[in-house]
Amino acid sequence: MSKARVVVLVVLVALIAAFFAFDLKQYFSLDFFKQQQAAIDASQGDVRIDPIRNRGQRVGRNDPCPCGSGKKYKMCCMRKGG
Ligand SMILES: [Zn+2]
Repeated sequence: MSKARVVVLVVLVALIAAFFAFDLKQYFSLDFFKQQQAAIDASQGDVRIDPIRNRGQRVGRNDPCPCGSGKKYKMCCMRKGG
């Protein structure tokens, strides 16, 4: 075996090794990412993201309007879009 052929062989093996190493790395990182995502999903399973609704004081439709008009809220500012 000539020296040149050995060099070519070594380069080829190195390339193949690098390819597989990269492939494996990618695979493992993907797997790691999936595990991370699963952990995140699991941790967020119990946490419900509340839609914005209970912000501030809510006035019932049949409660006296907070504006002091004496009317029911639904007949007063709720209609006005307040
Ligand atoms: Zn009102």
